[in-house]
Amino acid sequence: MKESAVKPIYSITPFTLLDYPHKSACILWFAGCNMRCLYCYNPEIVLGKGKLSFEKVFEFLHSRQNLLDAVIFSGGECLLHKDSITLIVEVKKMGFLVKIDTNGSRPEVIQNLIEKEVIDYVALDFKSMPSTFEKITQSNLFVAFEKSLYLLQQSTVPFEVRTTIHSDLINEKQIKKMISYLEKNNYVGNYYLQFFVNGVSTLEKLGYSNRELEQLDLSTTRIKVHFRG
Ligand code: SF4
Repeated sequence: MKESAVKPIYSITPFTLLDYPHKSACILWFAGCNMRCLYCYNPEIVLGKGKLSFEKVFEFLHSRQNLLDAVIFSGGECLLHKDSITLIVEVKKMGFLVKIDTNGSRPEVIQNLIEKEVIDYVALDFKSMPSTFEKITQSNLFVAFEKSLYLLQQSTVPFEVRTTIHSDLINEKQIKKMISYLEKNNYVGNYYLQFFVNGVSTLEKLGYSNRELEQLDLSTTRIKVHFRG
């Protein structure tokens, strides 16, 4: 097959047991993002160009059929690419489970994927409440996130909500507001708080982040808060 000049994928992680609950998986890292989160760990993926075409990705996936349970679409923002739906449909047809890591900015794509019944798990980033969303993400995509959350709530697709915590950006009061927001939106399930890892390269230079929030019991009757990282 002639290789396409379009190369949306920055790189592939060929094997992970950590990124899909209880499954073996590979990760496709899509280049590009419509947010610029100050703490983003993947500046080279967000700002860089892709290196792999879909043909190359399929070549790899064919070699992993019956060896891996799942394919994780991550990035960057994997749902930005105009052919991401086609790729996801094809990957699902190959027999893999499909997980999407998304910042929630493309609710119309999520809707389409739910209707096509091609996604098995979603990790949805909840960056912050509207008052700090623009500062943290350098974007005005809170309403899009809200729609994505709503669509996933209405669907039967298993999903998790997760937030990256840098202590200079999200404090106790703010995280409590975020938990109340999820409760008001009838979210029931796991909420993962991922502490910023100090000392790695990020989109913006940030100060030291502490883990004081870890001391708090933030779980409610309907939302189980877990700390990660
Ligand atoms: S952390 Fe923010 S900027 Fe980085 S990939 Fe995720 S949404 Fe994009």
